[in-house]
Amino acid sequence: MRVIVVGGGLAGLTAALELLELGADVEVLEGADHVGGKLLRGDVGGLEVDLGAESILARRPEGLALIERLGLGERLVHPSSRGAAIWTRGALRPLPRTVQGVPSDVPALVASGIVAEAPVSRPLPVPDHDVSVREFLEPRVGGEVVDRLVEPLLGGVYAGHASRLSVRAAAPQVLALGDDPLTAAAAPRDVPAGAVFAGLVGGVGLLAEVLADRVRELGGRIRTGTTVRALSRPGAGWEVFAGPTTDVEVRAADRVVVATPAAATSRLLSEVAPEAAFALAGVELASMAIVTLVVDGALPVEGSGFLVPAVDRTTIKASTFSSQKWPWLGALAGGATVLRASVGRAGESGLLQQPDERVVAAAVGDLHEALGHLPPVTAAHVQRWGGALPQYEVGHLDVVATVERDVAAVPGLEVCGATYRGVGIPAVIASAQGAVRRLQGEGDNVCDRPVDEEQR
Ligand SMILES: Cc1cc2nc3c(=O)[nH]c(=O)nc-3n(C[C@H](O)[C@H](O)[C@H](O)COP(=O)(O)OP(=O)(O)OC[C@H]3O[C@@H](n4cnc5c(N)ncnc54)[C@H](O)[C@@H]3O)c2cc1C
Repeated sequence: MRVIVVGGGLAGLTAALELLELGADVEVLEGADHVGGKLLRGDVGGLEVDLGAESILARRPEGLALIERLGLGERLVHPSSRGAAIWTRGALRPLPRTVQGVPSDVPALVASGIVAEAPVSRPLPVPDHDVSVREFLEPRVGGEVVDRLVEPLLGGVYAGHASRLSVRAAAPQVLALGDDPLTAAAAPRDVPAGAVFAGLVGGVGLLAEVLADRVRELGGRIRTGTTVRALSRPGAGWEVFAGPTTDVEVRAADRVVVATPAAATSRLLSEVAPEAAFALAGVELASMAIVTLVVDGALPVEGSGFLVPAVDRTTIKASTFSSQKWPWLGALAGGATVLRASVGRAGESGLLQQPDERVVAAAVGDLHEALGHLPPVTAAHVQRWGGALPQYEVGHLDVVATVERDVAAVPGLEVCGATYRGVGIPAVIASAQGAVRRLQGEGDNVCDRPVDEEQR
């Protein structure tokens, strides 16, 4: 059974691994000149650092399980316990405990100075339809909490706006707080033991590199620089059109897994699953850039970094003090400090059109102001991520349901990745595993070998 996986990001590579372990003949076609998608490492000032994703949610099992499965368990680390901050009202202020931005400790929130006034709880029945995070929360907890806590936290994950993002798809923990979010967030809860986030010594980008190596070891073929242009299903099998527009090659396959971002997936499905393609065409993608800096000396503040509310209208929306957050990087950096800042939100990509020097200068200016003092910059790198993060806007779960229904009606076709049910690393891995399970579940299996639960 020959399977072509389109897209060699985390979703595509995970699907390829699962398929190979089921005995399929797998080829991954990746448009870029490297695999891994948003998992990418690069050299900044002689240090190999993450230029894309840099931490993994440890409260879901899929990321840690894949790390173990790839033999990377010894590299698993957790961030230093130094906390994060919100840069607002002219200072870095400690981020209090929250449930997706809804404060669990109102006195601590007020003491932090993040809000000018203590939020007042106003219970209201939960609507039976999807609404934006802002529409859900503002009447119940007030606009300040949304502006200065919820939106920056959402911005850190989606680079999006509380007034557009769906409470059901993007903030399910907020929705679960029910009619009276402030009271519910303050109630004692069972917090799972262990760290919330994890990383890898060497960087999270290593996960994609080792995953690609494993795919090759198992006999999978990975072709980079090979953009897939179109898919068709002339009979029982598939034709995959790939390569430069002037020299498109046609490759045959029994099954196809499409693991590309929404816009590309929409184009690829236009002939074979037009309803899904139409639904995906409406998924907005936020572009952003990560500016990585190496500075000569220690920062004047402790902590792992800060988030910035959009209402404060700064250029940067967050900064991670990478070598303070990850002790392995601190040791590697010696007396220097590595930090990064993210720039760009959904619908705000003006600065991203500027040359690297301007983007770096704007980020450095904000960092100077936030920190009071930034040691001299010895190396800077701008990694642009065009169309980086899908926006789970109001109605997103209906979009996903349409896509899933339309794709399920086409034999031998599956989709997976960050577009659907979570943009974080564990959710993306789960999406790829789900796609392979569904393909395997089709009457004519991917191969004769049943899914081995031990392998998962
Ligand atoms: C800057 C940044 C920081 C992030 N930080 C974190 C973090 O710390 N923790 C976390 O959990 N998540 C983080 N995320 C989110 C997470 O990294 C992504 O959601 C996830 O990696 C997406 O994986 P994917 O395989 O779905 O998509 P992608 O990584 O986008 O992979 C899709 C691949 O498809 C390829 N492709 C596209 N079109 C075609 C085509 N026509 N033919 C062939 N190939 C094609 C692309 O080149 C790409 O390699 C971050 C995202 C960004 C952008």
